[in-house]
Amino acid sequence: MTCKKCGKPICHDEAGLTCKLINRGATEYFCFDCLGDMFQVSREKLDEMVEGFRAAGCTLFL
Ligand SMILES: [Zn+2]
Repeated sequence: MTCKKCGKPICHDEAGLTCKLINRGATEYFCFDCLGDMFQVSREKLDEMVEGFRAAGCTLFL
C-alpha cells in the first residue's frame, strides 16, 4: 500500500488511522504526514490517536 497523496509506502498504523479519520471502508490510504496536513494535526497528535485507538482495543491497530 502507498499513500494516495504522496506515494510513500504506508505502515499498518497509517492505514488504520486513515480508516478511523476518513472512513471505515477506505480503499485509499494516507501517510501520517498527509493525514496531518488534511486534518491540521501534528505528527505527535496522530501518534497519540493511534495509541489511544490501540489502547481501546481497536482491531485496526492490533
Ligand atoms: Zn503521504
